[in-house]
Amino acid sequence: MTPPTVADCLDTAAARLKAAGIDDPRRETRLLLAHALGVDQAAIIGHPERPVADCDAFLELVGRRTRGVPMAHILGRREFWSLEFRVTPDTLDPRPDSETVVEAALAAVSGRRGAAISVLDLGAGTGCLLLAVLSELPAAHGVAVDISPAAVAVARGNAIKLGLGQRAHFFAGDWGSALAGGFDLVLANPPYVPRGEIAGLQTEVAQHEPRLALDGGEDGLDAYRRLAGELPRLLRAGGTAAIEVGYGQWEAVAALFRAAGLGLGNPAFDLAGVARCIICHGSHAD
Ligand code: GLN
Repeated sequence: MTPPTVADCLDTAAARLKAAGIDDPRRETRLLLAHALGVDQAAIIGHPERPVADCDAFLELVGRRTRGVPMAHILGRREFWSLEFRVTPDTLDPRPDSETVVEAALAAVSGRRGAAISVLDLGAGTGCLLLAVLSELPAAHGVAVDISPAAVAVARGNAIKLGLGQRAHFFAGDWGSALAGGFDLVLANPPYVPRGEIAGLQTEVAQHEPRLALDGGEDGLDAYRRLAGELPRLLRAGGTAAIEVGYGQWEAVAALFRAAGLGLGNPAFDLAGVARCIICHGSHAD
């Protein structure tokens, strides 16, 4: 029997992804086939007639996708801030929304791009926030903390792969409890989904992403209460924190941070117009 061609495999797979309700089945199909064959997408697009010896292995990946496994878990990677991050079930899948945090953080230190500023990422997951910021600030150095040792290992590996291993250090810990403070910039994408809403999120998120990275407690704000308690110590006077917030949470988080004595900046909005990042400033003496 002649083996199916690239075009045959793409057609079969795209139909299955479409039937499973996947938004952009053609694009995902190409990514999955390129991954299965160990080639880039251009090779897929340029050679539709090429025979595929093991279409079954590819269709197995497609099957995982139709069952709700996130693309980033199947491919083992995700692009964020034009950098490639390894992603595993122990880490939150970096989202485009979080690029708002990187932009806001960079804007806050725009006058000091070449300075040796210190950066802290709390709840780092893949390390995407810290590493994106360090990639833009050549003399900055940073520390990232995550409560999951498995996530810390992934983040450290990402730093090394991106050539940032000398400027980024990682450890497992409970928010900033092991740290004295004095940071110029603090970043975080904390868990902020109200506990009762997790089960209703898409399968990809509810069943495949780490619960620790999503669960914000009863009202979704538990992590911000922790951060409100720690940021005044962690930020040096004049330092800035850029913290992601969930949809509709900016006001409530602002109230918590204000009550903790932090000075607030304007909200930063994501591409959908949602207030996605809260900026605050430290005022305590070093
Ligand atoms: N953005 C994720 C979601 O809504 C949640 C991530 C988080 O809790 N930080 O699915």
